[in-house]
Amino acid sequence: MNRDESSTSVRTPTRGRSTAARQHTLREYNLALVSQAIFDATTPRSRADIAGTTGLTRATVSVLVDQLIEARLVRELPPATPLRAGRPAVPLTPAERTVVGLGLEVNVDYLGGTVLDLTGQVVAQEVVPGDLHGSDPAEVLGRLGALARRLVEEVESQDMQVAGARLALPGLVDARAGRLQVAPNLGWSSFLPVPLLGLPERLPVEIANEANLAGLAQLVAPVPPGEGEPRVPLPGPDGVAPPVPSSFLYVSGEVGIGSAIVIDRELFLGNRGWSGEIGHVVVDPHGPRCLCGATGCLEQYAGKDAMLRAAGIPLDAPVERFLDALEEGTPSALDAASSAGTALGRALANFVNLIDIETVLLGGIYTDLLPHLREALTTELTTRVLASPWTELDLRPALVAGHAAMIGGARTVLRDVVAAPSAWTTSD
Ligand SMILES: [Zn+2]
Repeated sequence: MNRDESSTSVRTPTRGRSTAARQHTLREYNLALVSQAIFDATTPRSRADIAGTTGLTRATVSVLVDQLIEARLVRELPPATPLRAGRPAVPLTPAERTVVGLGLEVNVDYLGGTVLDLTGQVVAQEVVPGDLHGSDPAEVLGRLGALARRLVEEVESQDMQVAGARLALPGLVDARAGRLQVAPNLGWSSFLPVPLLGLPERLPVEIANEANLAGLAQLVAPVPPGEGEPRVPLPGPDGVAPPVPSSFLYVSGEVGIGSAIVIDRELFLGNRGWSGEIGHVVVDPHGPRCLCGATGCLEQYAGKDAMLRAAGIPLDAPVERFLDALEEGTPSALDAASSAGTALGRALANFVNLIDIETVLLGGIYTDLLPHLREALTTELTTRVLASPWTELDLRPALVAGHAAMIGGARTVLRDVVAAPSAWTTSD
């Protein structure tokens, strides 16, 4: 069947119920196709462009685009001057500050939330630092719930609609059951976190692993409030937008260390969604005990607490203290960075030998620490990666460094809106 045929979804009673249902599904399918084409474009496309890329007729595309505009997912830009005679093309772009996604996160030394709009712009954010080692889940998630309600009220008062929320947690998450299995550094295990947020039922919340969401955030950088055209990746240090590789390992350095394996722009989650636990890769079985119960895990050498402890800096000090000590050449700080870099390099070498990945993005506190870790990392990787004589591993700072899991969470909510926009349109 021609995909176009049923896309306007005119129901003909004589053709029976199954045909109507099929037409409904086809309209949804075509609407998603058009929506995805608009959101995937790096420069705004016209209705004619969309017809060209989707294979739908111009008339069908027009009807569907109008529905996306009415649903406030897409907006029209001023018409471009036509090169030839005829009607000028109207470029289409994601709508600003209309439908938004909420990313929430609990980590060991902060909790917070970020609201992103469909253009990738941060429209509201609140982050509260604090020591959450061995904390009470009900108390912490109750506070996060209150923070989330403040953010929702703030954006709703500006006529934005929150499509849903993702809660990022630093541990093993059973997303389907909504259960946190274990978050060793928080001291949390085996419960359902979402009900403890106490959010209204109209706001669907799902949970996910912190590093996985932060890894997804790297695929498209968010646009800082009030700056420039939407959907342009943040520029690199040389002022040029760095290309985001489609496959990479993202490593999130916090008190704990997590990672996301991204292959062809999709997360490799593993069988149960528990892949990427690089923080509990063994560096030395005779090493210090880890909060997971094992000994000598990577976190015990290259996690934030481990590095501060080795550098003789109080654990509640901001990581900038460690950076300052490194800049000043303080011997204990240099030693701490060197042994952290060595441990991380060994763990990464194992990963690279196993999964043949060329790019590693270093996120969390590693983004700023990378210049101080690079030498030790490179030494270990060159020594231990079998393929190293033929390829150089591309180690680079994460594109989205600060609060990447919240941004990734909000983006995941919006990705679902774009992939299934019919829930937001009124016609059927
Ligand atoms: Zn461990």
